[in-house]
This record gives sequence, structure tokens and C-alpha cells, in this order.
Amino acid sequence: MAIKKVEIIVPPREPHFVGDGFRVHNFIPGGFRLDMKRMDPFIMLDYNSKFHFSGTDKPRGVGVHPHRGFETVTIAYQGRVEHGDSSGGGGIIGEGDVQWMTAASGVLHKEFHETEWAKKGGIFQMVQLWINLPTKDKMSPPKYQAIKNSEMNTVDLGENGFVEIISGEYQSEKGPASTFSPINMMNAKLKKNGRADFSFPANFSTALLVIEGSITVNDNEKVLTDHFVLFENEGEAFQIEATEDSVVLVLSGQPLNEPIFSHGPFVMNSKQEIIQAFDDFNTGKFGYLED
Ligand code: MN
Repeated sequence: MAIKKVEIIVPPREPHFVGDGFRVHNFIPGGFRLDMKRMDPFIMLDYNSKFHFSGTDKPRGVGVHPHRGFETVTIAYQGRVEHGDSSGGGGIIGEGDVQWMTAASGVLHKEFHETEWAKKGGIFQMVQLWINLPTKDKMSPPKYQAIKNSEMNTVDLGENGFVEIISGEYQSEKGPASTFSPINMMNAKLKKNGRADFSFPANFSTALLVIEGSITVNDNEKVLTDHFVLFENEGEAFQIEATEDSVVLVLSGQPLNEPIFSHGPFVMNSKQEIIQAFDDFNTGKFGYLED
């Protein structure tokens, strides 16, 4: 098996606020070649690196807004998030949990810090990904998967640590999330000097985000906390070694290779479909959700 080489290591960009609750470094679509096509089907990645929010009786977050044509995946590393959407999906995701929302034909949703957590405040750390849907699934019904940390299969790597699988497969263990196209998403939780080997098809869009600690990739590329690693779409195998106790989000998905036409909260294949999305939104076809 050929080595999958690092193409570029991307430092976190200046953070900006999404609503008043998410202080994020945007990696996709961003600079460093990471437009919506480069990591297809991962079309957006916002990372709220560790940030302290003070206590408040009015939870911070993002109010009601629509999505169509893709999925939003929220991974809570620290803090708690409460979601609600117009299809009746929603709930609270706690530390280590994942919310996988299929917006597909369209939902309205809102995303806030969970009320009790917000009262106390504390360190908040979260990833939100947008995953594009294949053309044939873009107008399928909305769906919501709440995935508790305890439901994720893990692969024990002995003294190296372990890998916790959200979706896809690692060493024949599968993650609980159902996906519309092949998506491998997992957390490698490694102890100091711990190593983990990965192998994905050469053409898959593959990347890492260092959530905690620091690592060396393929014995020669040093990567610090909050940095993103984009791999070449060639070769299959790579290795991570933790230089201290580390948590690494591993992403690898099969490119859809379909046209992307996006505007704001809608990601479709053509301009006509975006105009339709705005029409449907403006005429109430996304349902109703209270502020
Ligand atoms: Mn949203």
C-alpha cells in the first residue's frame, strides 16, 4: 500500500462569531486551496477551539435559519449544545456526543448552548461540518441522528490509546451514523507516544484536525493543536504519532464529483435549484420553528 502524503498543514484562521455562541476558525471553504470542491463531500468546517464563555441566563447561539441540500454534523468536545428543527428533530448533545442532522429537502433549525450549561458557562469546544448530499438524495426527507458517545464503537489500541468511530469503519469496526455516501469520521484518542495507522481509498478526501495535543504524521510532519492536515488524493496509508496525549478528528470521504452551487444556507447543483430554495423558504415550505 502506498503512503498517503500530507499535502498541506493549515493553521487556524482568525476566529469569527457565528451568532453569539460559536467562536469559530473556518477551515472549509477557506484559503489554502480548501474550497468546497477540494474536500468534497466535506463542504464546510467550522471549528470552535477552546473558548471560555461566562455564565448567562440567556443561552448564546444561532437563531432560526434554514438549510437545504446537505447534512450538518456537530461534534461537541467540551460544553453542551441544544438543537431544535422544524421536522421535530432536536435534543441536547453533551461532551463527546454528535448530532447528525440531514437537512436534505429543507429544515429550519436553531443551535444554542444548553440552558443549564450556559448558566454556569465554561470552556466550549466544538466542530461543525457540512457534508454534501448526492444529487439523488438532496430532496429526501429531513432526518436527525443523535449519537451518544457511549454508542460509538471503539477500537482499543492498547498502550497507544483508542479510536472512537462516529461513521464508516476502522479495523472492521463500524460507526453508528448512517450516511448517504461513504464517510469515515472518527476520533483518535492517543496517549503520549501512542501510534495509530489508517488506510482509506486513495481518491477519498482525507484530513485531520488536531483537537487536543500535538502529533507527527508519517514520521516527519509535525502538527500542533488546532491545526488541520489535508492529505493528497493519492496513496492510502498514513500514521499518526502523538507527541503528548492527543485527540485527532479523522475525516475521509468519497468525493461525490457533482456540481456544487451554493448560496448561504443552501447547497444544490444549479442556480435554478437555489432560486427554488429561496422561493420555497419564503413561501413557508420549510415548515415553522419558534424563535
Ligand atoms: Mn445551521
